[in-house]
Formats: sequence, structure tokens, C-alpha cells
Amino acid sequence: MSTPATEQGPAADREANDSLTQLDQARADFQGRLLSAGLLVSTGIDGLYGRSGTFEDIVDGVDRLVHDAGQAAHGAKGLRRLRFSPVLPRGSFEKTDYIASFPNLTGSISTFTGGNREHRALLADRDAGRPWDGHLSSAGTMLVSAACHPLYSTLAGEIPATGVLTDVYGYCFRHEPAIDPARMQAFRQHEFVFVGAPGDAEAHRDFWIGRGLQLLEDIGLEAQAVPANDPFFGRAGRMLVTNQLDENLKTELVVRIYGDLDDGTAIVSCNCHREHFGENFGITTPDGERAHSACVGFGMERIALALLSTHGLDIASWPGPVRNRLGF
Ligand code: ZN
Repeated sequence: MSTPATEQGPAADREANDSLTQLDQARADFQGRLLSAGLLVSTGIDGLYGRSGTFEDIVDGVDRLVHDAGQAAHGAKGLRRLRFSPVLPRGSFEKTDYIASFPNLTGSISTFTGGNREHRALLADRDAGRPWDGHLSSAGTMLVSAACHPLYSTLAGEIPATGVLTDVYGYCFRHEPAIDPARMQAFRQHEFVFVGAPGDAEAHRDFWIGRGLQLLEDIGLEAQAVPANDPFFGRAGRMLVTNQLDENLKTELVVRIYGDLDDGTAIVSCNCHREHFGENFGITTPDGERAHSACVGFGMERIALALLSTHGLDIASWPGPVRNRLGF
């Protein structure tokens, strides 16, 4: 006869497995419904989608709200807009230290640099149905992992005492193929980045936690601010997770797309980087100190998906005030 205590282990495991299966099912269902409705278009690879006009209308509507919120908050303080391509020099990528923390999410660009002989070898492999990627070599460029990364190299040197505020928006790549439509390999982030004095950087992050929650509430999304950590890779990464949580560097605004099946999906991310980028990119304040930085990133696809999951896939039936705010 077993005691309740010994039964608790397997029962709890079973419950955990059940909810994991239910979560997988919920993600697959959501993906299936988005594809059937034509809002997302399959490319045949998990996490890479085409987007319909309606999906883009949602993204555009959200983007206007984000843009306006940025202008209202920072317009008078000289917020400037900068746009970068989704590809950045490997030298800049190096300085972000991304390869140390997230090698598994990284994307590098390769190209063919050989001559005729090497090309023939590539074609021979291709004709034989073998992989031909091995004939390519580094193009010296990387895919952008976070929209703010290309910014920092442009700020090298001394910046004004009041700091620099930048609005950046662009595609990011992270190699994490998944059924969950909220985990895309290529997605857009709209960020407001502050680089300057330590206290001002923290204030920037803290301001956007509250303002971000307000923006989401205005479009009918029930979000919560939660302390979070990045998915640092490997054994060394565990220490980085602890530091990030202990020092309260990252706060995510999460929405429960899948109800109680998980802890929610982060749709906005508010980050303090301390002096990390200031040091690696040689950005200094007039007092000779390393600049600190902070950014808020609005995940455009995830916000669109949270809206679709909350208000339904037919945007014509969304609540009037939400449609108004999004300009539908
Ligand atoms: Zn950022």
C-alpha cells in the first residue's frame, strides 16, 4: 500500500505532462486557425510565415499607437527615428556578446566566394542531391537578433549629458523553430532605446513598464508586468539568468494567449543593459563614464497575435473602441 506522499510524485508528473500536452495542442490549434483564416501563410518551416493584409493592418495599427506613445513621451526631448536593415556587420554583432549567450539563436550570412572550380564542386553536390551549404563561407554579416543592436556602433564616442533617445524598428531573427505562432523565427520589434546616464536609463525602462501596460490596456489586452530572464545558453548561462533576475534587469509584459496552460506570452520587453553596450561599443558620457542603456521593445507580431486571440480572428467583430484606436 502506498502512502499519499509517494503517490504525489507520479500524480504531479502526470498532471504536468497533461498540461504540457494541452499546451502543445492549444498552440497547434491556434496556429491551425490562423493558417485556415489566411492571417498567416505557411512557408513549410515552423516559425516562418507570410502575413496577410489584415494581419499587416493590425501590425500597422499597433505601430501607429507605439509611434505616437513614443512621440508623446520623448518627442520634446529629441527622439530620433533610425531604421536599419535586418543584416548587421559581424564586427557590431561581436560587440553585443550575443554569440556568447545565445549561440543557438544566432543567424549568420554565408555566400559563395570561390572560383569556377569550387563552383563546379558545389554544383556536383547539388546535382547529387547533397547539401551544398558547406561550399559557402562567411559574408562578414549577421542577421539582427534585436532591433536595437545595430544602433550602438553608431553612438561610439562621447554622447550628450542628456543622453540619446532613438526609435528603431525592424526585423529580428532568432533560430527557434516552433509550432507556437507566437514564437516566430523572424519578427518585428519596435523599440525606444535610451543611452546615457545610469539613473536616466533605469528611469526610461521603468517609465515604459507603466506606459506599455497602458498602451496594451487601451486595445483591450490584459497584460501583467513580470520579472523575466533571457534564455541564456548552456551552463554559463545559468549564472547570467540568476544575475539578470537578482538585479531586476528585465521586465516583460505578458498576456495569457493560452489561458492557464502557461505563464503567458511576453509581448513587450523592458530591459536595462547597464554599461554592457556602453563598454563594448565605447560609448561615454561627458563625465568620462561608460554610458548605460535601456530599451523597451514592442513585439509587433506577438501583440497582433494577442489581439487575435483575445478579440477573435474576425477583426470586423472586435470591440468598437479597440477598432477605433487601431484606426480600422
Ligand atoms: Zn533592445
